[in-house]
Amino acid sequence: MTSIATSEKIAVIGAGPVGISAARALKKKGIAYDQFEAGSGVGGNWRHGVYHTAHIISSRKTTEYPDFPMPDHYPDFPNAAGVPKLNSRGRR
Ligand SMILES: Cc1cc2nc3c(=O)[nH]c(=O)nc-3n(C[C@H](O)[C@H](O)[C@H](O)COP(=O)(O)OP(=O)(O)OC[C@H]3O[C@@H](n4cnc5c(N)ncnc54)[C@H](O)[C@@H]3O)c2cc1C
Repeated sequence: MTSIATSEKIAVIGAGPVGISAARALKKKGIAYDQFEAGSGVGGNWRHGVYHTAHIISSRKTTEYPDFPMPDHYPDFPNAAGVPKLNSRGRR
């Protein structure tokens, strides 16, 4: 694994699932970053790339962020209307 100098600020491009996960990892390590999202909110493909009625095919438990679990009332396979909410929660 390559190490990076933590004095450098990182640019995270996009706030889809990968951008959010990258930002969370940087934050956990105390590495400064700026995150840029071209769209109107977080969630990436699940905000603007699929029908809102589309359901994830990975289960809620395997898709959620462990420290920001989806609300208990969510179904096992929530639709796109619910997934960006998860990503917004995971962004903190
Ligand atoms: C129909 C369908 C069903 C799927 N089902 C599942 C599933 O059940 N479970 C699962 O885990 N995965 C599923 N996936 C895959 C999952 O949606 C993707 O793996 C995931 O969205 C990829 O995340 P990402 O952050 O790389 O990209 P994206 O979600 O595409 O997000 C990229 C973000 O970057 C932003 N962006 C792009 N360029 C720039 C720029 N130059 N500057 C600033 N912002 C920029 C975009 O606006 C976007 O918000 C499914 C995908 C599809 C299409």
